[in-house]
Amino acid sequence: MIDRYFEAAAYAALRHGDQRRKGALCEPYVTHVLDVARRLAAAQPDDGVLIIGGLLHDIVEDTEGTAEEIEARFGGEVAALVLEVSDDKSLPKAERKRLKIAHFPKKSERARRLILADTASNVASLTTSPPDWPLSRIVDYIDWAERVVAPARGLDPVLETGFAESAAAARAQFGDAA
Ligand code: ZN
Repeated sequence: MIDRYFEAAAYAALRHGDQRRKGALCEPYVTHVLDVARRLAAAQPDDGVLIIGGLLHDIVEDTEGTAEEIEARFGGEVAALVLEVSDDKSLPKAERKRLKIAHFPKKSERARRLILADTASNVASLTTSPPDWPLSRIVDYIDWAERVVAPARGLDPVLETGFAESAAAARAQFGDAA
């Protein structure tokens, strides 16, 4: 199985190419998907579909890669999971953020775990590689992230603790202005 993880990590690195994160470090985008997969592997070490889904979760949303390509290489379950966590990029950003909150409780258990890990990773990166945003926007983002994952309570103690630690670190760094 571990060879499949490295295959998926290599495929994600290739597909994300020279994309960078928005933070001060401008780290390669693949850093983020590796962090999401690490969180999922710590919580659900035996769920290969989930861990590979974590590595590939931004392929359809943010790259030229398609669900068909993912299905051919990593199977239908992984492709379906990636699609389930992909935003509809044709919608305005504010609407996508609203839908993320509204749709979360209806998602499959795997998708909820993945979104929880993804949101935790995004919040953690506010601290490790702060974006050049006004303070109010950073605090709004933490608030929004907490609203997204609030219905996940009881889903997965490891992922929930990871999120809580990342959110607490971000609040400590940027102040609890909310
Ligand atoms: Zn992501």
